[in-house]
Amino acid sequence: MGSILVIAEIQKGKVREASYELVSFARKIGGATNREVKSLVMGQGISAGAEELSKKGGGEVFAADDAALANYNLDAAFAAVQAAIAASSADVILLSNTPTGWDLAPRIAASLDAGLASDCFNVEVEGSDLVFFRRFFNGKFDSRLRPTALPLVATMQPGATAAFEGAADGKVTALSVSVGATGTKFVETKVAAAKGVDLTKADIIVSGGRSVGSPEKFQEVIKPLADALGGAMGASRPVVDAGWLPHEYQVGSSGQVVSPKLYVACGISGAIQHLVGMKASNFIIAINKDADAPIFEVANVGVVGDLFEVVPKLTEAIKTAKG
Ligand SMILES: Cc1cc2nc3c(=O)[nH]c(=O)nc-3n(C[C@H](O)[C@H](O)[C@H](O)COP(=O)(O)OP(=O)(O)OC[C@H]3O[C@@H](n4cnc5c(N)ncnc54)[C@H](O)[C@@H]3O)c2cc1C
Repeated sequence: MGSILVIAEIQKGKVREASYELVSFARKIGGATNREVKSLVMGQGISAGAEELSKKGGGEVFAADDAALANYNLDAAFAAVQAAIAASSADVILLSNTPTGWDLAPRIAASLDAGLASDCFNVEVEGSDLVFFRRFFNGKFDSRLRPTALPLVATMQPGATAAFEGAADGKVTALSVSVGATGTKFVETKVAAAKGVDLTKADIIVSGGRSVGSPEKFQEVIKPLADALGGAMGASRPVVDAGWLPHEYQVGSSGQVVSPKLYVACGISGAIQHLVGMKASNFIIAINKDADAPIFEVANVGVVGDLFEVVPKLTEAIKTAKG
């Protein structure tokens, strides 16, 4: 029986949240198919990240610590992955569906003559089969991918599951990688300039969801509450997809990850992709007319009601209290 290899990503010296989400998936299928979970961490000066991952569910963590891996380079990263696959005897290789995953996964699959399941949001074990789930037609349908042979390479959407949080003792094994001549060279990292609002710096965020209904209603209902509280306005993804607000207002796995002192969610259902972007907020108030909405599971205060009644009253009460 092979193992499951998690290809972890390091950002600013730390293992990314998305990699701990991969660990959740890996442990789920590992437990059901009797496969060990192993991981690869690559970069330069990554021993702290590798150590942490080994203590937080990553199993045996292969640490490829090499100057050639200091900045992402496909050829060098691929050499590290090949070494890790050989060392782990992995037959299931999981990557995050990120630019690094998009770059590496097809090359790994081609080199192994393996199948590639990309952009998956879940994986289940049915009998002895792995079944990967992928959305299509803009999320209207789910497809089930049942690989007929292993090895298999899969990329999983960040935010599709919770990060693994249990403690599990693994170990770190140094992995030497021989990086030959590469056809690409690292030039520089460019961080996109933030435009307009920077939600990651806001202490208070009032977010609205699809049910707000229109860009005008955002200005009439959500913005006044944000202004009264001295905070910023945020939104769920359908709001941005509809063009009601620009992308920098989006909170969630494909938007901003925020942790303000106060987060007010107005008419937001609480899908996992939204929750991963705001659940670290210090205090969460949720207003939703559905008492069973998942947002209430992470809320400190929940108001079951119509946002168009509750929010204006709250705004007036805050203005009155402030005098
Ligand atoms: C790859 C991927 C990435 C994604 N990234 C993100 C992301 O970054 N951020 C994000 O938000 N989503 C993201 N999503 C989408 C996510 O899965 C949900 O579809 C989305 O969060 C739902 O937005 P919503 O809560 O506004 O809308 P809905 O799910 O439609 O929920 C609307 C809610 O409003 C409530 N409601 C209706 N009318 C009222 C009213 N008058 N008063 C009070 N409550 C009312 C309803 O009860 C319901 O709970 C992503 C999805 C995918 C597949």
